[in-house]
Amino acid sequence: MKIAVLGAGGMGSRFGLYLHRAGNEVVMIDGWKANVDAIRANGLKADLNGTEIVDRIPVFTPEEADKADMNADLIIVLVKAPQLEGILEAVKPLFKEDTHVICLMNGIGHEDVLKKYVKPENILLGVTMWTAGMKGPGSVELLGDGYVEIQELYPEGKEEALKIIDAFDKAGLRPKYSENLHYSIYRKACINGVINTLCALMDCNMMELAAMPYTADISRKIVSEFAACAAKEGVTLDQEEVNKAILVSCEPEHIGKHYPSMYQDLINNHRKTEIDYINGAISRKGKRYDVPTPYCDLITELIHNKEQFIGAK
Ligand code: NAD
Repeated sequence: MKIAVLGAGGMGSRFGLYLHRAGNEVVMIDGWKANVDAIRANGLKADLNGTEIVDRIPVFTPEEADKADMNADLIIVLVKAPQLEGILEAVKPLFKEDTHVICLMNGIGHEDVLKKYVKPENILLGVTMWTAGMKGPGSVELLGDGYVEIQELYPEGKEEALKIIDAFDKAGLRPKYSENLHYSIYRKACINGVINTLCALMDCNMMELAAMPYTADISRKIVSEFAACAAKEGVTLDQEEVNKAILVSCEPEHIGKHYPSMYQDLINNHRKTEIDYINGAISRKGKRYDVPTPYCDLITELIHNKEQFIGAK
């Protein structure tokens, strides 16, 4: 397959690397100049569960989209939400009649942005449980195991979904076809909407968050707001299961010592967050469906306050 990956951050590098090593023709496009320069100079360096690997993958800035144009069969989107519209606009020439686009980003509603640039029937969505982190420009840490659930946005895309699953499977990305991706998207956004946001606001890791006296109660309130909006779209979120999953993942035996990505983006790197596509998406949906979402409203506002306060870019 000819594959362009938008975003050579942690996750874009994981997917790009696996697919490249499986023999696909891969290019990566990334807006962080220092990262592009480092990958060009030294190759993409990865710590893959303790093994250092270096792979030479062509990488371009969005402004060099013409050079990256390989009539891609597939474009994988793995930027952070605030970067999405900018990179899609810059790489517009890559979207051909038959180019399919799969968005594997966290959050709710990215398809509304994608539809401005891509034929809706060419859009696919996914939810991934792989993780990744950047050590610095051109260098990523790929630890642990994961999988990716995939489904087409419109029925016309099903054949392409199966082709992507085949390519991802051959690359070891452990894909599975989902009959109900909307549920998985809501579930993951909901978990992020509790853990990522509250750790960033409380300035703590996950197990410290879980030990705070009001966390369980706040979690239930946030989950109930996600569930109320999901219900308006025919998705029945299992609130008890989600609340339990949140607490379990905060245990020290799981990933309790971890500082979630929103914490790392905002507190460590002063970067803008994906809040508008997590709790912010629920705030917007609440207004549309006439569902009260006071916790998501407040959390969205507090995160934006903090972004502004620390000069996040
Ligand atoms: P990332 O922040 O690592 O990379 C995204 C973009 O930001 C890339 O273009 C990268 O070059 C740039 N970038 C990274 N660090 C930067 C810095 N310090 N300064 C300037 N630019 C920088 O994002 P990611 O973790 O790959 O996430 C991509 C999408 O996947 C997001 O929607 C995220 O929520 C989702 N996701 C992430 C993980 C994970 O474990 N990282 C897991 C599942 C889903």
